[in-house]
Amino acid sequence: MKPILVLALLASACGGDDSMLDGSTDADDNSNDTDSTDSTDITDDADDLTPDAPLCPRPSLDQADLATYLMASIEELARTPRYTDTERNRARTYFISALADLGLTGERVAFPSGANIAVTIPATVASPEPPIIIGAHFDTVPDSPGADDNASGSALVLALARFAKDLPCRRSAVEFIWFDREEVGLFGSRASAQSHDPANVRVVYTFDQLGYNADGDAAFELELPTPATQAAWQRAATAVGVTLRITQTGNTDHESFREAGYDAVGLSEEYVGGDTTPYYHTPEDTAATLDPGAMVLATKLAAQAMFDAIASETP
Ligand SMILES: [Zn+2]
Repeated sequence: MKPILVLALLASACGGDDSMLDGSTDADDNSNDTDSTDSTDITDDADDLTPDAPLCPRPSLDQADLATYLMASIEELARTPRYTDTERNRARTYFISALADLGLTGERVAFPSGANIAVTIPATVASPEPPIIIGAHFDTVPDSPGADDNASGSALVLALARFAKDLPCRRSAVEFIWFDREEVGLFGSRASAQSHDPANVRVVYTFDQLGYNADGDAAFELELPTPATQAAWQRAATAVGVTLRITQTGNTDHESFREAGYDAVGLSEEYVGGDTTPYYHTPEDTAATLDPGAMVLATKLAAQAMFDAIASETP
């Protein structure tokens, strides 16, 4: 990510916008449609066998194997740098294979200087809302295994695809994209922004450097959100119990989309706040320097935000 840093830290005095918290997240209504008229059991063989099982549950954010899943992806990706064609191809092959393990078919989407990997999980409703895009770059600078930058974001996006495929009711499609060539000029995300239409994409979430957490506070930074997106992520952060701060950090993949007119934000570790990997763009950016617990929290935060954006109450 982002060789150029910077800018302001609009300290999101959290708490600021709880205004919308109430009422929006309550577990749901149709909990008890108990038959008002007690059916006499004349002809009811199997009818009571499916009582009140909700049709559209959200998968639990607490997956017992989440840390293992994330760290295995990071370790596999960070076995080598991902700079040369050969190295980046190995990473693409890994994504295709990891997606196949989830029952999903990843697609190579080429552009003049590289190729992204993409997969779409479709909406389930008849009249869906416009899709959302979720992405992370997988390439590195030369000679860095890039565990934090950005095997961490790449693994998080894979874990989000795993959450999404287990969500039975989706009011919009979600497209997951692993971007190539971020480090040499945001080329993969730019190609992707150009091949989509901002009028037909509701929002774009990108992830870059999420696994470093030396101060143990598991705070994350949300980069350049619109007010509505900030409010949505703040609700997700409150639900998951993590701290979210707002920054003006650009120069990573969400910038490509924002420049092209999309509502796009990025999530990262405390890059502006200073609790960020000291091994940035070096051979020491290895999986062993990351905090699996922080990776889990970042992923749960992102999954909550994703569910809020795509879950439907009806099939
Ligand atoms: Zn990066």
